[in-house]
Amino acid sequence: MVAKYFVAVRPQTNENHAVHKEGCPFLPDDEKRIYLGVFSSGQDAVVESQRHFIKTKGCLFCSKEHKASEETPSQSEWANKDSIPSKLRIAISYHQSLLCCLN
Ligand SMILES: [Zn+2]
Repeated sequence: MVAKYFVAVRPQTNENHAVHKEGCPFLPDDEKRIYLGVFSSGQDAVVESQRHFIKTKGCLFCSKEHKASEETPSQSEWANKDSIPSKLRIAISYHQSLLCCLN
């Protein structure tokens, strides 16, 4: 399943630039994002985004949607953070993405 990906020009509070999939509600405005291209996985888009910024990370919101169809290394990385309850983790990621959007 291919999709268009974008990277946010402004970093999030954790200094990572969020990589968003087309249609993500947290996708920044046109002038606040860089078009990366069409990729079959968010992981590929993150690799591409690193040509623009040193620290980038797939948006927790739209990367999470991607998880339903396919597993990527970054997602198993999150799975290891099981010390945080999943509900809380979703709340945090939502908040971070929102902050990213407001920047
Ligand atoms: Zn997103």
